[in-house]
Amino acid sequence: MHNKTITELAKGLREKEFSSVELTQAYLDRINKYQALNCFITVAEDHALEQAKRSDIQLASAGAGLLTGIPIAQKDIFCTQGIKTTCGSKMLDNFIAPYNATVIEKFNTAGAVTLGKLNMDEFAMGSSNETSFYGAVQNPWDTNTVPGGSSGGSAAAVAARLSPAVTGTDTGGSIRQPASLCGITGLKPTYGRVSRYGMIAFASSLDQGGPMARSAEDAAILMQTMAGFDTKDSTSVDREVPNYSAGLNNSLEGLKIGLPKEFFDEGLNSDIASAIEIAVNEYKKLGAEIKEVSLPNMKLAIPAYYVIASAECSANLSRYDGVRFGYRCGDPADLNDLYIRSRGEAFGAEVKRRILMGTYALSAGYYDAYYIKAQKVRRLISGDFSQALSEVDVLMGPVSPTTAFGIGEKTNDPIEMYLADIYTIAVNLAGLPAMSLPAGFANNKPVGLQVIGNYFTEDRLLNIAHQYQQVTGWHQQTPQGFE
Ligand code: GLN
Repeated sequence: MHNKTITELAKGLREKEFSSVELTQAYLDRINKYQALNCFITVAEDHALEQAKRSDIQLASAGAGLLTGIPIAQKDIFCTQGIKTTCGSKMLDNFIAPYNATVIEKFNTAGAVTLGKLNMDEFAMGSSNETSFYGAVQNPWDTNTVPGGSSGGSAAAVAARLSPAVTGTDTGGSIRQPASLCGITGLKPTYGRVSRYGMIAFASSLDQGGPMARSAEDAAILMQTMAGFDTKDSTSVDREVPNYSAGLNNSLEGLKIGLPKEFFDEGLNSDIASAIEIAVNEYKKLGAEIKEVSLPNMKLAIPAYYVIASAECSANLSRYDGVRFGYRCGDPADLNDLYIRSRGEAFGAEVKRRILMGTYALSAGYYDAYYIKAQKVRRLISGDFSQALSEVDVLMGPVSPTTAFGIGEKTNDPIEMYLADIYTIAVNLAGLPAMSLPAGFANNKPVGLQVIGNYFTEDRLLNIAHQYQQVTGWHQQTPQGFE
């Protein structure tokens, strides 16, 4: 069962080949069997079986949808009523949200079954899943390597077939980079397309939730449920949600692909460059035209991002004060001691580093020099993308400069870790949608192809991804031992 697509699973459920309870149990058994990967922070066994029972009743009557009875696992950044939500932090190790994130509510309404909550970097800060309070996640393609981050548990769970599909969030690359390192398909939607209500905030002007699945076809099904305007999120965009599956088979004849020359500089591993070249050739065969374009301010993306994201996180994380919810230190002497020790004891090193950087960048005297400057750079980067996307329909390039790196290999050098997102971060600064697609292997490890589109063109991106997946088999590869 675990090798079936969502469409096949939905068919199996409808034709009574298996029930949702049987399907859910099969996934719970796999999750249990592959515990060593550390993909899950919480497995919601009872809750899942309860939901599956209800879905079976719904399936027996009319009105069942494509996701009715389908198990889905959620990144532990989405608040789930009744199931612990930790955001990968000791700070929220005891936190049970009193409400559901809009995304969770939408999956519940669709009849999906929540298998549990997936491991992630602490407060989504990281590119390797190693900043999680709950420990590193192993990449199923090579268990000595990282799955990428921050949605590392999400990507590894799909690659190891522990869930048919999952959710992730992407502030600077956290859907695309782990999707790339684990050989799965990930979509980071346009900023504002998926509600952020109940999705624990890291950097509010950049954060965006999206689907991670084996194929574009499955990602389209999740996207249909996740997308849409939400009055509870003031940055959510009131715009019609298209049918994401309807155009999957559209022809790519005449598609104009731009290759930003800055994506193919000396920082890119040559094996990855050749995998991308082969993928682009595949698109030529499908009728696409290729053109070189330029994003001249790309090199400023990482410094601008780390000022903006840290500034926003320092404000967002001020709510964890040891008073209202989350961790509280023992026996505080006074209020200051309560704040200092609660935060000091419960936040990990990376989160503290970001809060310090962000507070510094926002402080009087430095605000103009860092924060305002970074916002100006952000504008320039958005301008580069508008220019490039006025010349072509989509941009293509690598997702990550390397394949999966070793667990522990980059933990001592934060700058080295920040560079892992060099090709993804600019997209968030501009708020554009982008995908990562499995596009081959280098040294037996998956390589991802990035496809970046204009605002609200998720349907076209999914179509472009699906057409590639009709003529290549990379997305169907399963890591050895997880078949
Ligand atoms: N790796 C980047 C960071 O550490 C992006 C994280 C993300 O997208 N959540 O901030």
